[in-house]
Amino acid sequence: MILAFFMFKYLIQLLYPKTCICCNKHLVDSENYVCTGCLLELPLTNFHQLPNNNLEKVFWGRVKIEQAIALLFFKKGGKTAKLLHALKYHDNPEIALFLGKYYGTFLKDFCIQHKIDAVAAIPLHKNKLRMRGYNQSEMLANGLANTLSIENLSSYIIRNKFTETQTKKSRLERSENVEKVFETTNSSLFENKHILLIDDVITTGATIESCALELTQIDGCKVSVAGLAFAYHGV
Ligand SMILES: [Zn+2]
Repeated sequence: MILAFFMFKYLIQLLYPKTCICCNKHLVDSENYVCTGCLLELPLTNFHQLPNNNLEKVFWGRVKIEQAIALLFFKKGGKTAKLLHALKYHDNPEIALFLGKYYGTFLKDFCIQHKIDAVAAIPLHKNKLRMRGYNQSEMLANGLANTLSIENLSSYIIRNKFTETQTKKSRLERSENVEKVFETTNSSLFENKHILLIDDVITTGATIESCALELTQIDGCKVSVAGLAFAYHGV
């Protein structure tokens, strides 16, 4: 029986070998989604060890963010771009969960040092959630909460508006466009807590800004930000 199971597993692997998201090489049994070589070559920001980093500067003068960090730098066509594409379009929320757990291994000391109480993902609008089937940022938050053993408040923030594409607008127009988009369904859960807001990729910071503006109005609520990736535009 056991032998039959292993033969079946072997057959499945022959027919559908697991491949690396970044380089398409076959993965060995102990690897998941990304091969060890690519994991070692990922462009880490190390922002969790760098106060006043370039991501924090994105929010200066806009909203009070305690700490802003990201796991990876984003560059068009690079390994991070491949990961983000897989996260959104491969219909496989497990990849985001895996990356969230992986990111969590870097943030244990960070969360203790900055007294982070909970994670919460930037929500998708319900129409977009229906189209995609899952929120990749929420899966990242689930992975982080799992590794860090902290509370996950993702299900208590909702997104009201289905915002149009933001790329051709100025920062001011974008900021106005996303104003009041977010709401908490039970604000008392956020009171006197330091929340780590989770997003997949941070570019202009407008979405984070809008969500953080809502949260920081709650009594004693402090906000930090963690993105899987940061697309640096020389701010
Ligand atoms: Zn690889």
